[in-house]
Amino acid sequence: MAARKLHQFGMKVTVIDKGRNFGGRMATRQMNGSRLDHGALSIMLDTPDAERIFKPLIDDGIIQPWYIDERQRMRYHGADGMASLIRHLGHGLDVHLSSRVDRISTVDGQWHVRFNEQTTLQADMLLLTPPVPQSLALSADSDMVLDPDVYTRLNRIRYEKCLTLMVIYDRPIGLPYDGFLAFGHPAAMKIVNNKAKGLTSQTAITIQASPEFSEQHFETPSQEVEDLMLSAVALLTNSKPLEQRLHRWRYSQAVTKDLDYYLMTTNPAPLAFTGDSFAGRQLTGAAVSGLKAAEALHNYGNVTA
Ligand SMILES: Cc1cc2nc3c(=O)[nH]c(=O)nc-3n(C[C@H](O)[C@H](O)[C@H](O)COP(=O)(O)OP(=O)(O)OC[C@H]3O[C@@H](n4cnc5c(N)ncnc54)[C@H](O)[C@@H]3O)c2cc1C
Repeated sequence: MAARKLHQFGMKVTVIDKGRNFGGRMATRQMNGSRLDHGALSIMLDTPDAERIFKPLIDDGIIQPWYIDERQRMRYHGADGMASLIRHLGHGLDVHLSSRVDRISTVDGQWHVRFNEQTTLQADMLLLTPPVPQSLALSADSDMVLDPDVYTRLNRIRYEKCLTLMVIYDRPIGLPYDGFLAFGHPAAMKIVNNKAKGLTSQTAITIQASPEFSEQHFETPSQEVEDLMLSAVALLTNSKPLEQRLHRWRYSQAVTKDLDYYLMTTNPAPLAFTGDSFAGRQLTGAAVSGLKAAEALHNYGNVTA
């Protein structure tokens, strides 16, 4: 969203992402011929800003209605999986995938961004969207000295973990018709059938463990975690798993956040920290954060030009 906005402002934008595919935590994976969302599961337009930003994407069919939750709020999902929304946003931009940024530094007021330990790009401004602990680790690895107030605020931000199991079953399992169940079991807090999202014709299930279970078992061997999660779901079905894959999200959702929409420092060069650990919630909060930071960088560029 931020990159698109900067592009619309007429700025030259380069997106560098370590992921092999578009999406980040809006993750969709292929497994056994099925697509499964295994990061964010739904989108909720919970603020006027979110409604304004996402309405064109609904009108264009990029995101579509999924189900109405227990508080009568419409939940949406990416039409071809959650990652398809990010792929759509990245269309036409200069994007480098499979490119891990490992060092950022400034030379004569310009950012030098090195990725994959070999390629360096130069830029006037930098906008960082990874979960804040990852952005801070990158700053530390780069020997960057951040403004103490900015550092203190960023350093307070905390995320919860989420163990997620993707499973293809041989037969349907007993979920509500909309394919979403808040099961509440620690090893299977939420269960989603990706078939109900139109992503597959198979019974392709995403199971998310609770934050407490995920914290406790984050380092537990995969087979043990998978057995615990599958046993929890076995309470619902006697279908057999055909294939399964575990994903460990170290930074799933921010639980301690900053109250501003983004944090920006201009010394030695403009740098904005953005994402879902600022004001707002989850994906829509991250979108608003990115857009506001993009506006701030653009305005800063105009003032100093
Ligand atoms: C299990 C789970 C469930 C969730 N459920 C929901 C939900 O139901 N609804 C909802 O709205 N939100 C949900 N979220 C949160 C939502 O996914 C995030 O709020 C949103 O995706 C944040 O987007 P972002 O672009 O700010 O960050 P990210 O999606 O994390 O994007 C950051 C990007 O930075 C890249 N990156 C990181 N470090 C580097 C580096 N050194 N070099 C290059 N690239 C790097 C990553 O590859 C990634 O693509 C969930 C998240 C998880 C993990």
